[in-house]
Amino acid sequence: MIHMKGITKSYRMGTSRVAVLNNVEVEIEKGEFIAIMGPSGSGKTTLMNIIGCLDTADRGLYHLGRINIAKVSEEQLAGIRNKMLGFVFQSFSLIPRITALRNVELPMVYAGVNENVRRNRALAALTIVGLKNRAFHTPTEMSGGQQQRVAIARSIVNNPEIIIADEPTGALDTQNSLEVMRIFEQLNSSGKTIVMVTHEEEIAAHAHRIISVRDGRVIN
Ligand code: ADP
Ligand code: MG
Repeated sequence: MIHMKGITKSYRMGTSRVAVLNNVEVEIEKGEFIAIMGPSGSGKTTLMNIIGCLDTADRGLYHLGRINIAKVSEEQLAGIRNKMLGFVFQSFSLIPRITALRNVELPMVYAGVNENVRRNRALAALTIVGLKNRAFHTPTEMSGGQQQRVAIARSIVNNPEIIIADEPTGALDTQNSLEVMRIFEQLNSSGKTIVMVTHEEEIAAHAHRIISVRDGRVIN
């Protein structure tokens, strides 16, 4: 499902360039539940952004399913992000003053899904994360754990093949973290491929395989 080879990325720092990813090789099969671990600054988010087609590598090969990502247009990339991938971030990234339902509907608005279908699918996604009864509340009226569950509902609403989660429990307490992991395990059982960054051992233990990153390299 995800096939990367020789992925290299650097950022400009003044006049010099700083290598962030160095010859990274990653193979992830359909249906896997992967944790990416490594110290702060090791390149995890950069790697996730490339996997999620939010950023591109300077060099190397990236195949997502059968698609050679280097060969597709910006417009096609936007379509891939919207339909094939679901995103969950540490900071939830919800729109604070519209309802949970509207937040979850948004990816379907971009995908051009009609209003009735949108509403039904958003309610179904909120039901999966246990928040159907909160559909008409705004994120400002919710706890962090509830907000992250809304974000997960939003991530699955276009039925993506892969869920990309960068430190999804980074802002949550233990109980809410476990609830988020329970939902991820359930989504993984139903066939979703999950790629999650975490620096917590107990969270990584929910994944089936760990990819360790250090200084921009995959070390294990
Ligand atoms: P992690 O998620 O593992 O903490 P990141 O991928 O966010 O690591 O960052 C890896 C390194 O790349 C860090 O040294 C960071 O400062 C640098 N970096 C990340 N994004 C940028 C950017 N847009 N411009 C310059 N440097 C960046
Ligand atoms: Mg990071």
